[in-house]
Amino acid sequence: MTASVPTHNTKRLLFVVSAPSGTGKTSLCSKAVQEVPNLTFSISHTTRAPRQGEQNGKNYFFVTSKEFRDYVACNRMAEWTEIYGNCYGTTKETIQQGFEKGFDILFDIDEWGARQITEAYPDAVTILVLPPSFEALKKRLINRRTDNEESVRTRLKKAKEEIKKMSWYQYVIVNDSFKEAAGHLKSIIAAERCKNNHDFIKALIND
Ligand code: 5GP
Repeated sequence: MTASVPTHNTKRLLFVVSAPSGTGKTSLCSKAVQEVPNLTFSISHTTRAPRQGEQNGKNYFFVTSKEFRDYVACNRMAEWTEIYGNCYGTTKETIQQGFEKGFDILFDIDEWGARQITEAYPDAVTILVLPPSFEALKKRLINRRTDNEESVRTRLKKAKEEIKKMSWYQYVIVNDSFKEAAGHLKSIIAAERCKNNHDFIKALIND
Protein backbone atom coordinates (compact mmCIF):
# COMPACT_ATOMS: atom_id res chain seq x y z
CA MET A 1 0.00 0.00 0.00
CA THR A 2 1.25 3.46 -0.82
CA ALA A 3 0.53 6.62 1.18
CA SER A 4 -1.76 7.83 -1.60
CA VAL A 5 -4.74 5.67 -0.61
CA PRO A 6 -7.50 8.18 0.19
CA THR A 7 -8.54 8.11 3.85
CA HIS A 8 -12.16 7.60 2.91
CA ASN A 9 -14.58 7.36 0.04
CA THR A 10 -14.23 10.02 -2.59
CA LYS A 11 -17.91 9.63 -3.51
CA ARG A 12 -19.97 12.60 -2.33
CA LEU A 13 -22.58 11.83 0.32
CA LEU A 14 -25.90 13.36 1.29
CA PHE A 15 -27.01 13.27 4.94
CA VAL A 16 -30.68 14.01 5.51
CA VAL A 17 -31.61 14.87 9.10
CA SER A 18 -35.26 15.18 10.13
CA ALA A 19 -37.09 15.53 13.43
CA PRO A 20 -40.19 17.04 14.94
CA SER A 21 -39.54 20.73 15.69
CA GLY A 22 -37.97 21.49 19.06
CA THR A 23 -35.88 18.33 19.06
CA GLY A 24 -32.61 20.23 18.77
CA LYS A 25 -31.94 19.01 15.26
CA THR A 26 -30.78 22.37 13.91
CA SER A 27 -28.17 22.78 16.70
CA LEU A 28 -26.97 19.22 16.09
CA CYS A 29 -26.61 19.89 12.36
CA SER A 30 -24.72 23.16 13.00
CA LYS A 31 -22.33 21.41 15.37
CA ALA A 32 -21.62 18.68 12.81
CA VAL A 33 -20.97 21.21 10.03
CA GLN A 34 -18.63 23.18 12.32
CA GLU A 35 -16.64 20.14 13.38
CA VAL A 36 -16.67 17.67 10.51
CA PRO A 37 -14.29 18.53 7.64
CA ASN A 38 -15.68 18.69 4.10
CA LEU A 39 -19.26 18.86 5.24
CA THR A 40 -21.53 21.72 4.25
CA PHE A 41 -25.05 22.66 5.24
CA SER A 42 -27.73 22.81 2.55
CA ILE A 43 -29.25 26.26 2.97
CA SER A 44 -32.93 26.05 2.16
CA HIS A 45 -35.18 28.66 0.62
CA THR A 46 -38.26 29.56 2.62
CA THR A 47 -41.20 31.94 2.54
CA ARG A 48 -41.44 32.07 6.34
CA ALA A 49 -40.33 35.24 8.12
CA PRO A 50 -36.86 35.20 9.75
CA ARG A 51 -36.83 34.49 13.48
CA GLN A 52 -34.77 36.67 15.80
CA GLY A 53 -31.08 36.21 15.05
CA GLU A 54 -31.60 34.37 11.77
CA GLN A 55 -29.63 35.68 8.81
CA ASN A 56 -30.49 35.58 5.14
CA GLY A 57 -28.06 33.30 3.30
CA LYS A 58 -26.88 31.68 6.53
CA ASN A 59 -29.88 30.03 8.14
CA TYR A 60 -32.17 30.24 5.11
CA PHE A 61 -32.62 32.21 1.94
CA PHE A 62 -35.75 34.17 2.84
CA VAL A 63 -37.84 34.71 -0.28
CA THR A 64 -41.34 35.91 -1.17
CA SER A 65 -44.12 33.49 -2.13
CA LYS A 66 -43.88 34.74 -5.71
CA GLU A 67 -40.12 34.10 -5.84
CA PHE A 68 -40.64 30.62 -4.40
CA ARG A 69 -43.40 29.83 -6.93
CA ASP A 70 -41.09 30.95 -9.74
CA TYR A 71 -38.34 28.61 -8.53
CA VAL A 72 -40.82 25.71 -8.57
CA ALA A 73 -42.24 26.68 -11.97
CA CYS A 74 -38.72 26.86 -13.45
CA ASN A 75 -37.93 23.39 -12.06
CA ARG A 76 -35.11 24.77 -9.92
CA MET A 77 -36.16 22.88 -6.78
CA ALA A 78 -34.64 19.48 -5.95
CA GLU A 79 -37.39 19.10 -3.36
CA TRP A 80 -39.89 21.33 -1.62
CA THR A 81 -42.77 21.22 0.79
CA GLU A 82 -45.32 23.35 2.59
CA ILE A 83 -45.30 23.40 6.41
CA TYR A 84 -47.61 25.46 8.63
CA GLY A 85 -48.55 27.61 5.62
CA ASN A 86 -44.95 28.37 4.58
CA CYS A 87 -42.93 26.88 1.73
CA TYR A 88 -39.50 25.36 2.25
CA GLY A 89 -37.25 23.89 -0.42
CA THR A 90 -33.77 22.98 -1.60
CA THR A 91 -32.61 24.25 -4.96
CA LYS A 92 -30.72 22.01 -7.36
CA GLU A 93 -27.99 24.70 -7.48
CA THR A 94 -27.43 24.37 -3.72
CA ILE A 95 -26.69 20.66 -4.08
CA GLN A 96 -24.60 21.18 -7.21
CA GLN A 97 -22.51 23.91 -5.58
CA GLY A 98 -21.83 21.71 -2.54
CA PHE A 99 -20.67 18.87 -4.76
CA GLU A 100 -18.50 21.17 -6.89
CA LYS A 101 -16.70 22.32 -3.74
CA GLY A 102 -16.04 18.66 -2.93
CA PHE A 103 -18.27 18.66 0.16
CA ASP A 104 -20.72 16.15 1.54
CA ILE A 105 -24.05 17.85 2.18
CA LEU A 106 -26.17 17.88 5.32
CA PHE A 107 -29.90 18.60 4.94
CA ASP A 108 -32.16 19.71 7.78
CA ILE A 109 -35.48 18.97 6.07
CA ASP A 110 -38.83 17.31 6.74
CA GLU A 111 -39.93 13.77 5.85
CA TRP A 112 -41.55 14.73 2.56
CA GLY A 113 -38.36 16.48 1.47
CA ALA A 114 -36.33 13.46 2.59
CA ARG A 115 -38.45 11.20 0.37
CA GLN A 116 -37.87 13.45 -2.62
CA ILE A 117 -34.10 13.59 -1.97
CA THR A 118 -33.81 9.80 -1.59
CA GLU A 119 -35.76 9.29 -4.82
CA ALA A 120 -33.28 11.49 -6.67
CA TYR A 121 -30.25 10.24 -4.70
CA PRO A 122 -30.96 6.66 -3.53
CA ASP A 123 -27.69 6.51 -1.55
CA ALA A 124 -28.67 9.46 0.63
CA VAL A 125 -28.27 8.65 4.32
CA THR A 126 -31.39 9.34 6.43
CA ILE A 127 -31.15 10.24 10.12
CA LEU A 128 -34.06 10.78 12.50
CA VAL A 129 -33.56 12.82 15.67
CA LEU A 130 -35.96 12.03 18.52
CA PRO A 131 -36.64 13.89 21.78
CA PRO A 132 -36.09 11.83 24.95
CA SER A 133 -39.84 12.20 25.71
CA PHE A 134 -42.87 14.23 24.65
CA GLU A 135 -42.73 16.10 27.95
CA ALA A 136 -39.15 17.17 27.18
CA LEU A 137 -40.22 18.25 23.69
CA LYS A 138 -43.00 20.44 25.11
CA LYS A 139 -40.52 22.10 27.50
CA ARG A 140 -38.06 22.81 24.70
CA LEU A 141 -40.73 24.32 22.47
CA ILE A 142 -41.87 26.60 25.29
CA ASN A 143 -38.32 27.55 26.30
CA ARG A 144 -37.17 28.56 22.85
CA ARG A 145 -39.94 31.20 22.85
CA THR A 146 -40.31 31.26 19.10
CA ASP A 147 -43.80 29.76 19.06
CA ASN A 148 -46.94 30.98 20.74
CA GLU A 149 -49.09 28.64 22.86
CA GLU A 150 -51.27 27.56 19.99
CA SER A 151 -48.25 26.89 17.79
CA VAL A 152 -46.66 24.74 20.55
CA ARG A 153 -49.89 22.70 20.78
CA THR A 154 -49.99 22.23 17.00
CA ARG A 155 -46.31 21.23 16.82
CA LEU A 156 -46.69 18.71 19.66
CA LYS A 157 -49.72 17.12 18.06
CA LYS A 158 -47.88 16.89 14.78
CA ALA A 159 -44.74 15.45 16.39
CA LYS A 160 -46.30 12.02 16.99
CA GLU A 161 -47.64 11.79 13.46
CA GLU A 162 -44.30 12.92 12.07
CA ILE A 163 -42.30 10.33 14.02
CA LYS A 164 -44.61 7.56 12.74
CA LYS A 165 -44.05 8.74 9.16
CA MET A 166 -40.28 8.73 9.68
CA SER A 167 -40.05 5.08 10.72
CA TRP A 168 -38.28 4.26 7.43
CA TYR A 169 -35.17 6.34 8.28
CA GLN A 170 -31.88 4.43 8.50
CA TYR A 171 -30.53 5.95 11.73
CA VAL A 172 -32.12 7.21 14.95
CA ILE A 173 -30.44 9.61 17.38
CA VAL A 174 -32.13 10.39 20.72
CA ASN A 175 -31.21 13.93 21.72
CA ASP A 176 -31.15 13.65 25.50
CA SER A 177 -27.58 14.75 26.10
CA PHE A 178 -26.63 17.18 23.32
CA LYS A 179 -22.97 16.20 23.56
CA GLU A 180 -23.73 12.52 23.13
CA ALA A 181 -26.21 13.12 20.30
CA ALA A 182 -23.71 15.34 18.47
CA GLY A 183 -21.12 12.59 18.88
CA HIS A 184 -23.53 10.06 17.38
CA LEU A 185 -24.21 12.27 14.39
CA LYS A 186 -20.49 12.69 13.75
CA SER A 187 -19.98 8.93 14.14
CA ILE A 188 -22.68 8.16 11.58
CA ILE A 189 -21.02 10.53 9.12
CA ALA A 190 -17.62 8.95 9.78
CA ALA A 191 -19.01 5.40 9.39
CA GLU A 192 -20.78 6.24 6.12
CA ARG A 193 -17.58 7.80 4.79
CA CYS A 194 -15.70 4.59 5.60
CA LYS A 195 -18.23 2.29 3.90
CA ASN A 196 -16.62 -0.11 1.52
CA ASN A 197 -17.57 1.32 -1.82
CA HIS A 198 -14.11 2.73 -1.95
CA ASP A 199 -12.98 4.07 -5.32
CA PHE A 200 -9.42 2.95 -4.61
CA ILE A 201 -10.45 -0.71 -4.19
CA LYS A 202 -12.72 -0.58 -7.25
CA ALA A 203 -9.88 0.79 -9.36
CA LEU A 204 -7.55 -1.93 -8.06
CA ILE A 205 -10.03 -4.68 -8.98
CA ASN A 206 -10.51 -3.26 -12.47
CA ASP A 207 -6.77 -2.82 -12.98
P1 5GP B 1 -38.41 25.95 10.89
O1 5GP B 1 -39.49 26.87 10.43
O2 5GP B 1 -38.60 25.52 12.33
O3 5GP B 1 -37.02 26.47 10.59
O4 5GP B 1 -38.53 24.60 10.03
C1 5GP B 1 -39.74 23.90 9.97
C2 5GP B 1 -39.51 22.59 9.27
O5 5GP B 1 -39.13 22.80 7.91
C3 5GP B 1 -38.40 21.73 9.88
O6 5GP B 1 -38.90 20.42 10.06
C4 5GP B 1 -37.33 21.74 8.84
O7 5GP B 1 -36.58 20.56 8.85
C5 5GP B 1 -38.13 21.86 7.56
N1 5GP B 1 -37.37 22.38 6.44
C6 5GP B 1 -36.45 23.36 6.45
N2 5GP B 1 -35.94 23.55 5.23
C7 5GP B 1 -36.52 22.65 4.42
C8 5GP B 1 -36.39 22.33 3.03
O8 5GP B 1 -35.60 22.91 2.28
N3 5GP B 1 -37.14 21.34 2.57
C9 5GP B 1 -38.02 20.64 3.35
N4 5GP B 1 -38.71 19.66 2.78
N5 5GP B 1 -38.19 20.92 4.66
C10 5GP B 1 -37.44 21.90 5.18
